Amino acid sequence: MDAVDVIRTKRDGGRLSDEQIDWFIRTYTEGGVADEQAAALLMAIVWRGMEDDELARWAAAMLASGERLDLSAVGRPTVDKHSTGGVGDKVSLILSPLIAECGAAMPQLSGRGLGHTGGTLDKMEAIPGWSPWLEPADMVRVLQDIGCVICAAGAGLAPADRKLYALRDVTATVESIPLIASSIMSKKIAEGTEALVLDVKVGTGAFMPDVGSARQLAETMVRLGEAHGVRTSALLTAMDTPLGNSAGNGLEVIESLEVLAGRGPADVVEVTVALAREMLTLAGLDADPAAVLAGGAVLERFRAMVRAQGGDPDAPLPEAVERWTVDAPATGFVQRLDARAVGIAAWRLGAGRERKEDPVSASAGVVWFARPGDEVEEGRPLFELHADEPARFEGALQALASAVTIGREPPGPAPLVIDRIGP
Ligand code: URA
Repeated sequence: MDAVDVIRTKRDGGRLSDEQIDWFIRTYTEGGVADEQAAALLMAIVWRGMEDDELARWAAAMLASGERLDLSAVGRPTVDKHSTGGVGDKVSLILSPLIAECGAAMPQLSGRGLGHTGGTLDKMEAIPGWSPWLEPADMVRVLQDIGCVICAAGAGLAPADRKLYALRDVTATVESIPLIASSIMSKKIAEGTEALVLDVKVGTGAFMPDVGSARQLAETMVRLGEAHGVRTSALLTAMDTPLGNSAGNGLEVIESLEVLAGRGPADVVEVTVALAREMLTLAGLDADPAAVLAGGAVLERFRAMVRAQGGDPDAPLPEAVERWTVDAPATGFVQRLDARAVGIAAWRLGAGRERKEDPVSASAGVVWFARPGDEVEEGRPLFELHADEPARFEGALQALASAVTIGREPPGPAPLVIDRIGP
C-alpha cells in the first residue's frame, strides 16, 4: 500500500477502498505516514467528501486505533451528551448530576476549548483542586458511587483522532462534515456509553452556521452511532445568542451552581431539560428532569462529583482583579446579542486559548445583563468584562463593538430547540 496512491484516489474523486482506509489510519497513527501526506488526504476529503459506507469504515478504523471502555460494571443505564461547541454552553456541568439524580449514569469524557468556544474541562478546572485525570477503573468507581463523572479522555481512546485533529487544526481542514462526524463519534463510541444525545449547535457562535449543514452533520453522526450499537439521537439547538448570562470558565461554574440550586437563566434550564428528556428516553427511564432540577437536590450530587475528583466545592472560585463595564449605547429592546462576538471577547480576555498548549484564565470572561427581548436604558451597564490584566480589555471591546443591536421593537420569538434527529 502506498500513501500517494491513497491521496490520488481521493484527489480524483474516487472512493477509498476498505483496505486503503484501514492501512492509512493504522499506519498514520503508528507514525509510518508523514504529516504532509495525511494533510493532503484530509484536504482531498474536505473537497471531495466521503460516501456513507466509506465514512463508516473511516470512523470504524479510527475507533479501532485504540481501546473501547467497558462500562458494564456501572450498574445503571449509561447515556452521554456531546455538544458541537457554543458560547456560554455550561450545560454539561448541570446535566451530569441531573442525569445521575434521575437514575442513569453519565460518563462524560470532555475536551478543552479552542478558539471562541469554551471547553468543559477548562470550566471544571476553575474549581480549586479538581482534576480531570482518572484511570478507567476510577471512572467506573465514580460512576457506580455518584452516577456521573466529567474527565479527560485518556491517550488510549481513538489515538488516530488525537493526531488527525491536531493536524486538521493547523491545515484548515476542520470544517468538513465527514471529518467532524468521524472525529466526534470515534471518541464517543470509544467511551463505552450505551446511548448518546448530540447537541448540534446552529448559528453565528457555532461550527455550523445554518440549519441545513447542522442537520446533515447530525444525521451523519446518528448513523455512525447506530452502526456501532450506540442508541443515538440529536437535537439542533440555537447558538446565535450565547447561553445564559456569562462566558468564561469560573463565571460559568458560578452560573451553573445557580441552575443546580433550582434557579438560574431560563434558556440554560430549557436546553438542559430538553437534552435530559432525550437522554432519559434513550436510557429507558421516565423521570421528570424539569421537576428534579427545580427541586435543587442536584446541587449536592454535583458537589459529590467535584469531591470525588479532588475538588473542594466550598473553596471560593478565583475572581478577576480587573473589571470593565460597557454601558448600553441607546434605550430600547435588545434585538440581537451575537454569540460569536461574545465568545471572541471572552477568549481575548483570557478565557480561551489560541494554541492547544496555551493556559487559560479561570476568572476571565464576559457577563451580560440583557438578552434579546430585554429592555435596556442608555448609560446603564450592558456588559461586565473580567480579566487578569488590563491590557486584555482593548481586544475584547473591539469584538463587542457591534455585538448588540438595540431597536424600538422586541425581536420575534426564536425557538431554542430547532429540531430532533433520531430513530
Ligand atoms: N470536535 C471534535 O472533537 N472533532 C471535530 O472535528 C470538531 C469538533
